[in-house]
Amino acid sequence: MPDKQQLDAYWMPFTANRDYKAAPRIVASASGMYYHDQSGRQILDGTAGLWCVPLGHSHPVIVRAVQKAIATLDYAPAFQMGHPAAFELAAELVEYSGRRFGQVFYTNSGSEAVDTALKMVLAYHRARGEGQRTRFIGRERGYHGVGFGGMSVGGLSANRKQFGNLLGGVDYLPHTHNLEKNAFSRGLPEYGAHLADELERLVTLHDASTIAAVIVEPLSGSAGVILPPKHYLQRLRELCDKHGILLIFDEVITGFGRMATPFACDYFGVTPDLMTTAKGLTNGVVPMGAVFSKPAIYDTLMQGPAGIELFHGYTYSGHPLACAAGLAALRVFKEEKVLEHAQSMTAYWEDGLHSLKGLPYVIDLRNAGLIGAIELESLPGKPGARAMEVYKTAFAEGVLIRTTGDIIALSPPLILEKQHIDELFGKLREILKRNA
Ligand code: PMP
Repeated sequence: MPDKQQLDAYWMPFTANRDYKAAPRIVASASGMYYHDQSGRQILDGTAGLWCVPLGHSHPVIVRAVQKAIATLDYAPAFQMGHPAAFELAAELVEYSGRRFGQVFYTNSGSEAVDTALKMVLAYHRARGEGQRTRFIGRERGYHGVGFGGMSVGGLSANRKQFGNLLGGVDYLPHTHNLEKNAFSRGLPEYGAHLADELERLVTLHDASTIAAVIVEPLSGSAGVILPPKHYLQRLRELCDKHGILLIFDEVITGFGRMATPFACDYFGVTPDLMTTAKGLTNGVVPMGAVFSKPAIYDTLMQGPAGIELFHGYTYSGHPLACAAGLAALRVFKEEKVLEHAQSMTAYWEDGLHSLKGLPYVIDLRNAGLIGAIELESLPGKPGARAMEVYKTAFAEGVLIRTTGDIIALSPPLILEKQHIDELFGKLREILKRNA
């Protein structure tokens, strides 16, 4: 356990520091489906870290690849220079995307990927002589990381309200969460595709010629697992095409197998112009994000004046250790048939989740791929308190979950077996029953 001085020194991110430090939860090691605390106690990972460990913890293929990489090339400048693994990984990622995209631009996180994509959009429109297209359309309850661009297009008030007005010229589509119409749907909800048509209203208001891009998570994760209604994303794609507006999918959570397909765009059959990713790209082992681009955007910028085509990048873009982890992760996806396995678990996952229907305060259960959410009725005047209690109890009793307000989000590593699904929902059932 950290001592008082250590607790005081670490200003923890996205954490209620005072509450946490009164009773710290610590993990010290991990393998496969489990974390371990310092006494060796097992904690089932119901969230794949923070949605970022699809292949399970400390996968030996990835561990060995990173060990080898660090002994070979510790760092290479991402500045008029490259190294073999960076090119190799880019080509493999393009293949893994089924060639929906042509290029990959490396960042170090999802937040950086989002800000990168927004900048690419602006540069693209300028390069085409449409520099007046500067307006972004996000969505209520969307989460796009913590950079100024991502916060600005994000629609989670908790993520913004401490920081003022952020970027100007941003508008928001309505979110698609509707308990009255869609509670307890299995898979995608039926109601709400028409909410995409709100884009027409924003086009009328601002004129299409001023709108640069729409950015959405195909499935909102951080807001508490909000699923897109059937056909919603197709309609959004059609409207963007009609008005010359680029479409960005933020697949930081949904990329790399979460829906039992390579990306959510495969699951939904809709291809955006740009796609942001991170997390599962390296199985969470080394920080890395990536923006996937359709060739049209890259090609447009390549036709500009000679010199640096996009004045953007990071010291650690394409870091050798991250590239090694990414290549190893892709190998594991392929060789261990991880997506096929994930797909084979989805029905059992859905049944397990929906077996919690009828437990005290459970007002919705929703799922898609290997994602699940349990929405609880809030305690009067104390939003979030009920789910937080479940979170603390679950951790104490050996299961890691995640909460957003009173929504419990579940996103286990894709390598899980039926016994882990039983363990997770068995424990949650016990805890939720006690709430009665
Ligand atoms: N976009 C989405 C959709 C996310 O879920 C997240 C992180 N949960 C981010 C962006 C930000 O990623 P990072 O924390 O790596 O900056």
